[in-house]
Amino acid sequence: MAEAPKAAAHLQRLNNRYSVPLGGMKTSAPTTGATHAWIGLGANLGERTAALRQAVQALAALPGTCVLRTSSLYRSAPVDAGGPDYLNAVAEIATTLDAHALLAALQAIEQAAGRERPYRNAPRTLDLDLLLYGNQCIATSQLTVPHPRMHERAFVLLPLAELAPEQVSPEALQAVSGQTIALHDGPAWLSAT
Ligand code: AMP
Repeated sequence: MAEAPKAAAHLQRLNNRYSVPLGGMKTSAPTTGATHAWIGLGANLGERTAALRQAVQALAALPGTCVLRTSSLYRSAPVDAGGPDYLNAVAEIATTLDAHALLAALQAIEQAAGRERPYRNAPRTLDLDLLLYGNQCIATSQLTVPHPRMHERAFVLLPLAELAPEQVSPEALQAVSGQTIALHDGPAWLSAT
């Protein structure tokens, strides 16, 4: 696998990044009280692309929630673990769920996708992380937001920078530029058959 593409050039190539087709899903924001949140998606077992597509559909089906945009699809080597490569993406949602209710919903979607936790960093059919919830900082026993390890991971920062470049500094991208990651499919991965 190639090393991470130079971030600026890579993001420039993704010039269609805001035209993600989300056919059949809720894409208009809930009317009042909605918060924008960014969800990291990953899978390295089973039909990975199908699992990520279903996860985006499940996000869109949550109460008071719509999926606004999704990033390109990336392929990355597992961090601190063995196993097959991951496919990763980030979704931007608007939701009236509070952050803890959203986390519970993400965990329910993982469970429905057959997620098992035999040991730490085990391969997984689906991993959903709450990366950012508006501009809130949250630290409870269940939930830390911003996600505590997001700035260490190219497979989070590259797709997040497509959707929310203001959330990812050039220094942060530079810090993960040695990690092994490749663009797997453009933003249309969600609707491709
Ligand atoms: P994982 O096994 O990587 O899915 O980690 C899940 C655990 O991390 C759960 O116990 C969550 O309560 C906890 N956690 C803390 N902060 C977050 C977050 N921002 N997003 C997802 N899980 C989180």
